[in-house]
Order: sequence, then structure tokens, then C-alpha cells
Amino acid sequence: MRYFDFAATTPAAPEVAEAMRPWFTESFHNASSLYSGGRAAAGAVRRAREAVMSAMGASDGTLIFTSGGTESDNTALIGAALKSGRKAVAVSAIEHHAVLESAEFLGRLGREVRIIPVDRRGRIDMDAYRELVDEDVAVVSVMWANNEIGTLQDIGALSEYAHERGAVFHTDAVQALPSQRLDVSECGADMVSVSAHKIYGPKGCGALWLRSPELIEPYMHGGQQESHLRGGTENVPAIVGFGRAAQMLEQRRDGDAAHAAALREIVMTRLAAEGALINTDPALSVPGILNAAFSGVEAEGVIFILNMEGYCISMGSACNSESVEPSHVIRAIGVPEEYARGCLRISFGRGQTEADALELAEAVIRVCRQQMSD
Ligand code: PLP
Repeated sequence: MRYFDFAATTPAAPEVAEAMRPWFTESFHNASSLYSGGRAAAGAVRRAREAVMSAMGASDGTLIFTSGGTESDNTALIGAALKSGRKAVAVSAIEHHAVLESAEFLGRLGREVRIIPVDRRGRIDMDAYRELVDEDVAVVSVMWANNEIGTLQDIGALSEYAHERGAVFHTDAVQALPSQRLDVSECGADMVSVSAHKIYGPKGCGALWLRSPELIEPYMHGGQQESHLRGGTENVPAIVGFGRAAQMLEQRRDGDAAHAAALREIVMTRLAAEGALINTDPALSVPGILNAAFSGVEAEGVIFILNMEGYCISMGSACNSESVEPSHVIRAIGVPEEYARGCLRISFGRGQTEADALELAEAVIRVCRQQMSD
């Protein structure tokens, strides 16, 4: 298999596609309808909600289905800021655009936006955090795992401090869910975003877990769906698919994580031996993501040539793939200039073998060496 971009998206598992199919056709009813077909759809949504909550380790709180991680992040950040009388929001410098752009939107509405710096490994700078998160901050958002370099944050400590200052704490766990037992009820965070298509579920479906529905002012007005927090007819097939993917994740998560870690080790060891700068700290990151760069190489060209050979890798977040500038994450962690344009993100998942990983590593080395000698 030559697909090494599981952090961008995963294929829907065959079991997921199969579980979704009847909800498009014979069981097409609206989950709000009172007759039996509607009640069946509502039952399917309820079971999917239980499955996703279980996979997130949520024994309490409210889970609302959304159109994906992006909507979950927007709902959390904007909703919590609108609810609060406080003037500021604080987000880390390496957040996904879904959080950064939501913060900028709040900035245009007159809120103060505070950006929390990170260290070379992508970990929150705790001194800066303590300075920036004060009694003026309505909501803090720090991602559980970063999508470009994989770095994990100490969500317990960060949320505890935010609570001491009376702020609401949100975390984007889109990249953490595939490998981490989130235990959201115990993790300290007030709101947690996840997405189906990173766990072999369908695209266009996500969820936001809230410790309490009172934390946000909803901005999606309409029907009473999703605990009155997100109007709109439920996407029943996608929600059913998310539920099935979540059930499978609970059974497979540890095996998936060990598999990804083993493959990453193979690629990382080979690239490092050839002089690559490794931007992912294996001890502090999700197992499925590796970010590495060779000096003087342009990632875009490497990705293009590898693609002609059938390989799919990335140079950062997929939403960023038209930009040739180093991403905001690469900038924020301070990758030296000669490596910054060469950062490649290689990500691992189900169905890949050790031989695939080794083959990819050799292909990356060959193409980068070629570019370096040109
Ligand atoms: N947050 C993170 C960390 C992500 O990696 C992504 C997707 O790449 C998103 C949010 C957006 O999720 P979705 O594609 O479901 O809107």
C-alpha cells in the first residue's frame, strides 16, 4: 500500500460502509418523524451517540453530532465566547485552522485573541500560558494532538489551570481519538471535538462533547435537534457510520496504535540515518504521525514526484496543501530555515505492512537526495 496520509483522512472501513447503506435507501426516514420509520432512525442515532461517547470515554455530558471536526471546533470556540461576558479567547499557535480561523472571526467581532506559544517539540510554553490565560479569558483551546507533527499536550494540567482562572477549556481531539483513550469525562476539558473520517468513518460527520450544554450559545438555529444546540435534520447514514467506526475503534485502538508506532519507527530510523531532521518526538506524540525534513529540499516537489510513483504523503495539513510557505506549525516550533520548506508529513494506518513502510522510506530518501543534488 502506498497511501501514507492517514492523518488527512482514512478510507471508510467496509463494515462502516455496509452499516450506512440501508439508511440511505429503505430506512431513509427523518429522525424527527413520529411514525415507526422516524423512530427507527432516531434509535439508530441514539445507538451511534452511545457508541461515540463510549469510544471517547464519556460517561456523562452531552454529545452533539456535527458536520465534522471543523464545525465542532467552531461551535465550541464561538459558542463559548458568545456565552461569556469576558473579552478574550486564548488558542495555541499550532491549532488547526478550524480553531485559528474561529478565533480570528471572534477577533473581527471585537474579542481579543491571545496566541499561546509552543516549544521546539510543539508543547505549550507553560510560563506564557499562565501569563496569557487570566480572568479576562472566556475560552481556551489547545489541541490534544497536533495534525502536522503529532505532539500530545497535557490536557489535565492545561484545563486545571484554565479552570482556576474561570475560563472554559476546549480541546480539538480529532487527531488524538484514533490512538488515545480520551476518557473525556475525567480528562478535565469542558468540550472535546472529534471527527469520523480520521477513524475509518465517513467524511462530513463529527461530534462535540460538552460537559454541560450550558457552556455554549448555539449559533446554528433551526429545529430542536441535538439537544437544541445544532438545528438541522440529522445525517442519519453518516451518524450510523460514525457509530460503527467508533465501535470498531474501541476493539482495535491499541492494536492500531502499536502497528502505527512500529511502522513509524521503521521510517523514522531510515530517514534519520540519512540525515533528516525529525520534527516529531516519538515519546510525546500520537503514533501515527511523523514529520521530517531534509535540508535544502522543497516538500512540494518531493510530494509531486512520489505521487507519480503512486505514493501519497503530505506536507502539513491537507487544507494547506496549496500553499508553498512553511505552515504555521512549522514556523511556531522554530524549524531551522534550511529545513522549513522541506517538511514532510508521513502518517500511518490500517493495512500497511513493514515492507510498505521500508519501501516508502527508501523512496523518500531517493527523491530527496535527487533534489539535493539538482
Ligand atoms: N482538527 C484537526 C486537528 C484536524 O486534523 C482536522 C482535519 O484535518 C480538523 C480539525 C477538521 O476536521 P474535519 O475535516 O472533520 O472538518
